[in-house]
Amino acid sequence: MNAIERVQAAIDLRRPDRVPVDLHNFQPAAFAMGGSMAEVFQHGELLAEAMLQAWREFGHDMILLENGTACNAQACGVQVLYRDDAAPVAHIPVIESLEEVDRLAVPDPYTTFPMCEILKATRILAREIGDKVWICGRADQGPMDLASQLIGMQTLMLEIATGEKADLVHRLLDYARTVSTRYAFALIESGARSTSIGEPVAGPDVMSPRHYRKYAQPQEKKMVEDLKAAGIILHNHICGNTIPIINDFIATGAQVLEIDHKTDMRKAKAAGRGKTCFLGPINTSLLATGTPSEVEDACREAIALMAPDSGFILGPGCALGSETPAENIHALVESAKKYGVYPD
Ligand SMILES: [Zn+2]
Repeated sequence: MNAIERVQAAIDLRRPDRVPVDLHNFQPAAFAMGGSMAEVFQHGELLAEAMLQAWREFGHDMILLENGTACNAQACGVQVLYRDDAAPVAHIPVIESLEEVDRLAVPDPYTTFPMCEILKATRILAREIGDKVWICGRADQGPMDLASQLIGMQTLMLEIATGEKADLVHRLLDYARTVSTRYAFALIESGARSTSIGEPVAGPDVMSPRHYRKYAQPQEKKMVEDLKAAGIILHNHICGNTIPIINDFIATGAQVLEIDHKTDMRKAKAAGRGKTCFLGPINTSLLATGTPSEVEDACREAIALMAPDSGFILGPGCALGSETPAENIHALVESAKKYGVYPD
């Protein structure tokens, strides 16, 4: 099997030859270019070059392509800070109150910065290596996360807690979902084989499971359905311990669920077996500061628990830090080959 067949099998819950491996490595890839990361994250050619060089070094099966968590927000008018040594961050919201939601317009990804630059990077990667590696173009962020950036996290959490303007919260979420869905289509049109949303704000570490079910989950489910109707594969990424919402998370219907090391692997596998493909969950702190043999141990354990019957892609649980040592990334990729082979 080649990388694309391997990833496709894992997502389809068929047995691949071995566990596929992904890297969520836009930060170390940009860092390795040696210049300002802010430059890389604002120019599609540079971002593609960074991801290409990293793929040539590590040979992973799946590339997760993005420029951080503020792309959609910036396209919607949020002020974003670009930094030389890390991913950009959302800085100043575009609206101050829920009542302003109706003045927000859905950006055209092909003409709106920085979406248009990520689309450019997607086209370059698809042209250069799209037949050798699975490219996931991330439509970051998901409805809840983007909504929190549009109006500010504190304001949104307060409105959700008081619950007096639930209709307007839903309207803001509808808008955010429309933005991400439109962008997801453009990423696929540009050559990505799957797309992904980040929803860290929707996770139990930030929001109660009750509010996840009421506000975030129906939006994620609708987004999955709209994309699935066009044959598009969506990954849903929620950081932290997702066990309190694991059945709702699975019920979004997302073909891939991206989880990190805080989610109990046994419980996740028991809930998701035969229903979805998990991606992750190696601790990014371990990858940043541990030794290659510690990384190998963590990968071996994850494969033993998550790989049986297929439906598993090994990778970091979240975005790798800028200065993650190359030997630890090699240890991660090699572990999939060493421990992830499926019996005939
Ligand atoms: Zn995460």
